[in-house]
Amino acid sequence: MRAVGLNNLDIWARSGPPGGRPVYPWTERRLPAVTGVDVAGVVEQVGPGTGEMAAGERVVINPILCCGRCEFCLAGEQSMCREYRIFGEHTPGGMAEFTVAPAGNLMKIPSAVAFEQAAATPVCCTTAWRMVVTTGRLRAGEDLLVVGASGGVGSAALVVGRRAGARVFALVGGPEKAAKAERLGAVPIDRVRYPRFSERVRELTASGVHVAADPVGAPTWPESIRSLRPGGRMVICGATGGERPSIDIREIYQRHRQILGAPMGNLTDFQTVMGLVFRGELTPVIHTVLPLSEIREAHRLFEAREHFGKVVLVP
Ligand SMILES: [Zn+2]
Repeated sequence: MRAVGLNNLDIWARSGPPGGRPVYPWTERRLPAVTGVDVAGVVEQVGPGTGEMAAGERVVINPILCCGRCEFCLAGEQSMCREYRIFGEHTPGGMAEFTVAPAGNLMKIPSAVAFEQAAATPVCCTTAWRMVVTTGRLRAGEDLLVVGASGGVGSAALVVGRRAGARVFALVGGPEKAAKAERLGAVPIDRVRYPRFSERVRELTASGVHVAADPVGAPTWPESIRSLRPGGRMVICGATGGERPSIDIREIYQRHRQILGAPMGNLTDFQTVMGLVFRGELTPVIHTVLPLSEIREAHRLFEAREHFGKVVLVP
């Protein structure tokens, strides 16, 4: 192990899900657990039948585990697999000095790419790409609203949206994060100043955004939906703030709006974002890199929402 990215999954494995709501696979806490989904390192040893993968290779782990045989796998939609699991969530992961992964899930990292960059990419950038590009069909010149833009998925959606040639509105909390969003090329909207942020979106756009990416859920859904122009698409991948929003469905169908699920992505989404990062065409936002021995501080700052982008740990 050379670097591992921290995700909500790691927090929930330790503390239980927010509000005690069961989140698969953690219907209850099962400690001790070794989590760590976003993993980069060097191959120490290979088992039989591992093909061209050899000891000494610098690699990142594709966290998608699937059966490879069902109709969804055969159609290239691995994250729809009936046996879909995530490395480090359903299996022991990378918050360790060594980990074990299927050879087929390893992807070589070019020598110019840092382990920290590679480890900041898999979960959040794959999910953001799936949301914004594959499912949200964002095009150059369109407007994208990113809710929770300082989070892992949010910051990834921001840079993916900018790379797609869109104008990106980044919903963040407080002036410091607003300034950071601006430096990344987005138009910040401070949710502290604009709790009804759809009104601000309407001031800044003609009739709302084409795509809204909302990984937060219940607290932001009503305003995210209202931020969409007629025919606009809201893409969702999680419910970090709660899973039961109070909405008026007429606001959806009367304006031809769509709500689309995009949790994680398929192998093509993963390979696409890794390729972009390897070529320097997409840069994941890294808040800080800490030694693995400071994992307590990493969890603390993550839960206190002090970060903007990924928190990466180095064993
Ligand atoms: Zn399958």
